[in-house]
Amino acid sequence: MSAKIIPVADHRYLNAVPMIPASLEPATGLLADTLARPLRDLRISVTDRCNFRCVYCMPKETFGKDYAFLPQTSLLSFEEITRIARLFVAHGVEKIRLTGGEPLLRKHVEKLVAMLSALKTPDGRALDLTLTTNGSLLARKAQALKDAGLNRVTVSLDSLDDATFKRMNDVDFPVSEVLNGIEAAHRAGLGPVKVNMVVKGGMNDQEIVPMARHFKGSPAILRFIEYMDVGASNGWKMDEVIPSAEVVRRINAVMPLEEIEPNYTGETAARWRYRDGGGEIGLISSVTQAFCHDCTRARLSTEGKLYTCLFANSGNDLRALLRGGRSDEEISGAIAHLWRARGDRYSELRTINTNGMTAVVKRVEMSYIGG
Ligand code: SAM
Ligand code: SF4
Ligand code: SF4
Repeated sequence: MSAKIIPVADHRYLNAVPMIPASLEPATGLLADTLARPLRDLRISVTDRCNFRCVYCMPKETFGKDYAFLPQTSLLSFEEITRIARLFVAHGVEKIRLTGGEPLLRKHVEKLVAMLSALKTPDGRALDLTLTTNGSLLARKAQALKDAGLNRVTVSLDSLDDATFKRMNDVDFPVSEVLNGIEAAHRAGLGPVKVNMVVKGGMNDQEIVPMARHFKGSPAILRFIEYMDVGASNGWKMDEVIPSAEVVRRINAVMPLEEIEPNYTGETAARWRYRDGGGEIGLISSVTQAFCHDCTRARLSTEGKLYTCLFANSGNDLRALLRGGRSDEEISGAIAHLWRARGDRYSELRTINTNGMTAVVKRVEMSYIGG
C-alpha cells in the first residue's frame, strides 16, 4: 500500500494563535463541537521530559542525548495552567488529568495539584483530579499528592517480567519499583489505582495473562491499551496491534469473563469482569473500535497549546494569549470558538478510510501533548 508522507520539521512549532471572537459571551458550561460533543475533560501535560524511553512513545533513536526538550521559559507556570484550567471548567470541564512526559518529574507538581483542586464546577462540585505516571517516583510522592487533593492515579506498567519491562522502558527500570509505587498509591488513598498496559505484539503480548492473573482480586483495575499510531517516531505497524478482542479471548480461556456496562457515556475503556467475582479489567480499543463519537477531551501541551485531538498535527497557542495580556473573557471566547469548530475524529476516519492501515504522516508526539 502506498503511504502519503507529509514532511514537517518539528510539530511543536506548528501552531496558530487562536481567534478571539468579536462578541464575547459568558461561559455557559454547555459548549458543543460540530459533532455535538460537549467539553468535559482536560488533559494537561506538565513536562515533555521523561526518565523512561518506552519504545512505543519516546524511542531512543529520536529522543536521544541530543534531543532538544522545551526550555524552562517555554513551560506554562502553575499560575498560567490554573488560569487556563479555570476557564475550561467554566466551559464544562469536570475532569482534569495531569500527564506528560512524566508528570512527577515536574518540580513541586503537588503545588499545582493543590491549586487545581481548589477549582469548582459552576454548580459548586469538586473536580475529578487525576494523574497518569510511569510509577517510578510514585512511592516517594503518593502521600504528598493525596494531601494536595489528587483523587486518583493511573500507573503505566507493561509487564511483570523484568527483562520484558526493561526492553520496553529501555532505561533498565525494574518492575518492583513500579509495584512499590502502586502499593504506595493504594496506601495513600489514591485508589482505585488503574494500571495501564500497552500491548505491543511480539514484545509483551505473552504478558497479557500473567498481568491479568497478578491484578485479579487486587484493588487495582488493569486496563489493556491497543498500541496506537501516535506521533511519528514509534514506527507503528498495524500487525503489531493486538486487538482487544484477542486480549479478552486469551484471558477468558483461563479466567472466564463477562462484559459489563460502562460507568458513564464516553468512558474510553470497555469493562469486563471475572465470572468468579475476581474484579474487573478494562479494554481501550483506540485502533479497532474508535470512540471519537463520544470524545469530550481537550489537551493542553506543556507550553500551552490546545489540541482538540490526540492526533491533531497543530496546536492552538493559548500561551500567546496569556502572555499577550488578553483578559479572561477574551481567552474564554477563544476557547469557545475553537471547541465549537472542532470536528476531529481521527481514529474513526482511520478505520473507515484505510481499514486499519494508517498513512505515514508526521504527527505531534504523545510525550509532548500527553496521553
Ligand atoms: N509518563 C506517563 C505514563 O507513562 O503513564 C504519562 C504520559 S504517557 C504518554 C500516557 C499514556 O500513554 C501511558 O499509559 C502510555 O502507556 C500511553 N502511550 C504512550 N504511547 C502509546 C502508544 N503508542 N500507544 C498506546 N498508548 C501509548
Ligand atoms: Fe515516558 Fe510515559 Fe512515554 Fe513511557 S509512555 S516514554 S513513561 S511519557
Ligand atoms: Fe478523540 Fe481524536 Fe482520539 Fe477520536 S482520535 S477519540 S477525536 S482524541
